[in-house]
Amino acid sequence: MKWRGRRRSTNVLDQRGQGASRGGGFGRSRAGGMGRHFQIPRGRGGKVSFSGILIMIALFAIAYYLNGDGSGGSGGGFTTSGPSQNLTAEQKAAQDEMAEFTAVVLADTEDVWNPLLPEAFGQEYREPKLVLFTGGVDSGCGFASSAVGPFYCPAGERIYLDLDFFSELLNRFNVEGDFAPAYVIAHEVGHHVQTVLGISAQVREAKSEVGKVAGNKLSVMQELQADCFAGVWANRADGISQILEPGDIQEAMNAAEAIGDDTLQRQAGRNVVPDSFTHGTSAQRQRWFMKGYQTGDPLQCDTYSARTL
Ligand SMILES: [Zn+2]
Repeated sequence: MKWRGRRRSTNVLDQRGQGASRGGGFGRSRAGGMGRHFQIPRGRGGKVSFSGILIMIALFAIAYYLNGDGSGGSGGGFTTSGPSQNLTAEQKAAQDEMAEFTAVVLADTEDVWNPLLPEAFGQEYREPKLVLFTGGVDSGCGFASSAVGPFYCPAGERIYLDLDFFSELLNRFNVEGDFAPAYVIAHEVGHHVQTVLGISAQVREAKSEVGKVAGNKLSVMQELQADCFAGVWANRADGISQILEPGDIQEAMNAAEAIGDDTLQRQAGRNVVPDSFTHGTSAQRQRWFMKGYQTGDPLQCDTYSARTL
């Protein structure tokens, strides 16, 4: 991806090295509630118990499958990375480079969604904040360790990212290239788009009316839509700023494959249990990213009424 020297978002909050401070932002989740652009399948229509508990949306369900110790990888990665404490000058420079990369990708999502949300959905976009942290963080969704991977929290509308994840992509998931983490960031921004559009609140309500298995299926639809929005972002950002280099889309596809539920379960030595999926299979994640990328149209990201995911 062409990112060096390009505009960096001012919405990055750098809390690296601070430990779990009160990152807060306990603002109300503004659930949007605008027009229903996507028809979320509902249960029996029973009463909705909206507890107000906000669910953080991680990139993948890795915490369920792996006893992530959060130690991250050592060496390798985006360039190089290591344990976040006691960084050498070289490691610190590498981390700063990843932080700059993250700010450029976030800026690209702003350039895409600021005009696209009004155009496609008739709704103004609100830019999310992105919090860089190390080790663990007190988010608006409670405490989270780096082991859960990057996540979005609707309270405060923030994305949380530990840069060690960049090296995890390479060391744990064998995914190379800078467009893999770009896809990850764009996926989390996709959850923010869902929040702004009121989709996340609708899914949350629908989930409260159904059992575990049906609820998991709704989660999969929501996650695959975020993948599709990430694909839309890749298409549009390239149209605006010509960001793509040869191999970039393949890098995103490799990442999508590596973090599919079936692949993660298999790698953890478990049986593949489709009813337990919350993010979708590798093939589904790839398919929806590609659908977004090929069409560049967020209205094509209707996972909720798709006949097949
Ligand atoms: Zn997600």
